[in-house]
Amino acid sequence: MRCPSTSRLTDTGETIDEKLWPTAQIKGRKLTCAHCGSVHSWSKTDVVLGRPIRDHR
Ligand SMILES: [Zn+2]
Repeated sequence: MRCPSTSRLTDTGETIDEKLWPTAQIKGRKLTCAHCGSVHSWSKTDVVLGRPIRDHR
């Protein structure tokens, strides 16, 4: 997810199978941010998928 304070990407520490992602139930998760030190709550829509993307710039 992206930190709302620093706009930097933060690892949620959770990995979800890409196949399960469309139906995954994710809500009300909390994360202690490594960048600003605050606890952020995040949900599925906040997550930036860590999928390797090439030749896309
Ligand atoms: Zn943060």
